Amino acid sequence: MKTETFPVVIVGSGIAGLLAALKLAEAQVPCVVVTKTFLADNSSRMAQGGIAAVLPDNSTDSLALHVQDTLQAGAGLVDPKMTYSVVAESFEAIQDLIHLGVPFDRVEGKLAFTKEGAHSANRILHAGGDATGRSIQETLIRHTRENPLITVYEECMALELLVEDNICRGVMAVNYQDKHQLEPIQFLGGVTILATGGLGQLYSQTTNPPIATGDGVALAYRAGAHIQDIEFVQFHPTALWAKGGVQFLISEALRGEGGILRNKSGRPFAADYHPKGELAPRDVVTRAIYSQMKQDHMPYVWLDITHLPPEKTETRFPNILQACLSFGVDIRKDYIPVAPAAHYAMGGVLVDEWAQSSVKNLYAIGEVMSSGLHGANRLASNSLLECVVFARRVAQHVVENPVPALDTAPQVSYPVESLQYGYPPALISGIAELRQTMWQETGILRSKSGLKAAQSKLAELNRLGQQDGLFSWVPDGIEFANMLVTSQLICEAALGREESRGAHCRTDYPDIHETSTHTIQRSVGAGFKPARNRPETQISVGTSVRRAGLKPAPTWL
Ligand SMILES: Cc1cc2nc3c(=O)[nH]c(=O)nc-3n(C[C@H](O)[C@H](O)[C@H](O)COP(=O)(O)OP(=O)(O)OC[C@H]3O[C@@H](n4cnc5c(N)ncnc54)[C@H](O)[C@@H]3O)c2cc1C
Repeated sequence: MKTETFPVVIVGSGIAGLLAALKLAEAQVPCVVVTKTFLADNSSRMAQGGIAAVLPDNSTDSLALHVQDTLQAGAGLVDPKMTYSVVAESFEAIQDLIHLGVPFDRVEGKLAFTKEGAHSANRILHAGGDATGRSIQETLIRHTRENPLITVYEECMALELLVEDNICRGVMAVNYQDKHQLEPIQFLGGVTILATGGLGQLYSQTTNPPIATGDGVALAYRAGAHIQDIEFVQFHPTALWAKGGVQFLISEALRGEGGILRNKSGRPFAADYHPKGELAPRDVVTRAIYSQMKQDHMPYVWLDITHLPPEKTETRFPNILQACLSFGVDIRKDYIPVAPAAHYAMGGVLVDEWAQSSVKNLYAIGEVMSSGLHGANRLASNSLLECVVFARRVAQHVVENPVPALDTAPQVSYPVESLQYGYPPALISGIAELRQTMWQETGILRSKSGLKAAQSKLAELNRLGQQDGLFSWVPDGIEFANMLVTSQLICEAALGREESRGAHCRTDYPDIHETSTHTIQRSVGAGFKPARNRPETQISVGTSVRRAGLKPAPTWL
């Protein structure tokens, strides 16, 4: 089998993966970036709202305020020490991006800040109006392509981590650029960095791109890494509903700019559910919309930003405006039909403050990581911040602690000889069934019986996949196998969490347990001590809503 050796192997080319590569190159460390489709194809490029940061010239904000908002959104499971350190690094992180040439929006030469749900200050930087992710991603891609120290493999899919005695030596992958001649490759590296993004595609309704199939969690889990808090999947309250399904994200920033949620008859309803109304934490707004949809017997509610002057909508939300227009909705004068969709994975591969996983020489950064920043619910725009901060940190740690790559790979058995390119119908329908099951049984509202039903379905699909050889098809069969592993982990963790907290809502356990902690799916890697402090004050979003005696109070709040 072809073998390539690099000091560092990075899997994934989103903002996390590419920035890590560039920071390593800055320190003269060569690396390879292996990405399963193309450099520009990922969740990063889709980020609309922006990136949260506390900057010195923003007098309305402070580190303490940003930390407090993050803790509050995370419903008692956020690591305060980790959060403080990430927020404190936000200034340098943004400086890095500006230095690379990211064109953040400005007003009279000064950086423009906006506000999003559950933020108590204007601290979200954006670029190209609502094209923040694309602006950052394009800047990083330009630098990556120009940098001789970074080797890129596109249409090259990671199959399995090369792990022996709990030490990671690289990754086995398949290059499928030539569809008629698949090429298995072993990428050996001193260290391996997973930057594989999220898992929204496990759900039939999602804002995520097709690449977001939870591969990194499955790879790390199979390699023996700890997986943490994977039951916490954020469902974004507002995606455009058109042509019988969710089409794309309608950014929180629209509500930040005064957007109003209206029910079937046009009455604003968000304040019925939470004092912060449209700007309440995402999980609360999601369930409020879900409840309203049920009451109205409608597959969507309305989002209204018609109060904004049309020229402001055109400059602030040019992409959302165009995308909605393509579905016949003119957001300058029409209400927008919106519904919730799977959006973000709060949990993932458990890491410490340097992004090290419990497997030696294996790091995880970006959405695939579970650093403790998000707890049970992510604060909007903290994820891009986490990508940038941990890309910087991982590079620094690797530069300061270099590990030589081995000349030969450890023995990891993987049936590469059976790999083939294609999309058989049984595979397509198997994936569709998985996504439908996950949406129905492990989505916004969960229960023991639903989660058990999902587990049985997943087991049945797994049997079918093995029996019919579906897991040997590149790329979707590989993804299907990973989706099954990650989905099972979500079910297992969601069953184990017998409470409702943050984004995890159990109809059979509607209350929060004040003593509950993070979930860890697997215990290997003796001696690994992740930085985890329990927050001193438990903040319970659900309880505070009930205490406030707000009406209507759905039973699951
Ligand atoms: C529509 C949308 C809007 C968002 N808006 C915001 C926002 O405004 N602010 C914010 O902070 N966050 C936002 N987010 C979340 C944020 O964009 C993501 O969390 C973040 O971009 C993830 O970056 P990443 O580098 O970890 O992963 P990604 O950008 O998703 O990149 C993952 C990479 O891994 C590769 N990969 C995956 N599996 C494999 C494999 N097996 N082999 C090889 N390569 C693999 C993929 O091909 C891809 O290149 C948004 C997300 C979406 C979907």
